[in-house]
Amino acid sequence: MSAKILDGKAMAAAIKTALREKIDSQGIKPGLAVILVGENQASKVYVGGKEKDALEVGFLSEMFRLPENTPQDDILKLVKELNARKDINGILVQLPLPKHLNEELITNSIEPMKDVDGFTYNSAGRLFTGSKGLVACTPKGCIEMIKATGIDIKGKNAVVIGRSNIVGKPMAILLLAEHATVTICHSRTKDLPSITRQADILVAAIGKTKFVKADMVKEGAIVVDVGMNRDENGKLCGDVDFEAVKEKASYITPVPGGVGLMTRAMLMSNTYEAFLMQRDNK
Ligand code: NAP
Repeated sequence: MSAKILDGKAMAAAIKTALREKIDSQGIKPGLAVILVGENQASKVYVGGKEKDALEVGFLSEMFRLPENTPQDDILKLVKELNARKDINGILVQLPLPKHLNEELITNSIEPMKDVDGFTYNSAGRLFTGSKGLVACTPKGCIEMIKATGIDIKGKNAVVIGRSNIVGKPMAILLLAEHATVTICHSRTKDLPSITRQADILVAAIGKTKFVKADMVKEGAIVVDVGMNRDENGKLCGDVDFEAVKEKASYITPVPGGVGLMTRAMLMSNTYEAFLMQRDNK
């Protein structure tokens, strides 16, 4: 069997088109502010993509590109100002921050209703307890892709490899909320292949090139590859050995062209959601 490809590019485009239509039909302009500190090349590319998406869907987009040595108090002051602005509905501080800055403190200074990355303790707590809130973009994009297969997640065995706060843990909670039976694996997991082989839904968020081999995958599984790695030739690739695993899975996300683009689309939908929450909470 050769898996159907879950096309992140097409899904993300459809989400952005639908958002653009909603915004135009209502005559509204949600605002997204992105703060980038320093010269991290990957971060610059990500922020450029976010700016492009925001303009494409018709948002107000404000980018703050600050020098590497910006004092922490200046960033906290900027976040405070953005928290208070009515025309800004979403605030994102691009991580990682330069070493002299306290990421935890800065991230948590974002007003929860504007926390479009879903990284604050408040947002994480809401997800954990099943309260309404903004959900981290990458796991949110993954769950959308899984739902796009049309399968009923309820009662399925889902295995998440990775337990980071930004991907693995929230992914597991989202699957749990859909009534999957969830197992979280990590670097100390014993006999990982025996666990992954039981997965109807397998999510890989490890950060290791082609780590998930075909013999780790159950026939007919849905495989979601979050990884963004470089292979020996510098080519972008995921955590899954795509060519081999696609012969076993029923659905698979490619890298590039999969979860990364959906992550970007989810940032746009979170900004729209943030706009609605702020409008309805007035
Ligand atoms: P992370 O914080 O480094 O977490 C990696 C996780 O993988 C950890 O929980 C680690 O276990 C686990 N792990 C490492 N080696 C393992 C092994 N041999 N067996 C089983 N588990 C193992 O990374 P992350 O931030 O979650 O990101 C994961 C990947 O997704 C990276 O490639 C990253 O670039 C990518 N990513 C992509 C997007 C996107 O938009 N597509 C967004 C975010 C991240 P321990 O906890 O035991 O160390």
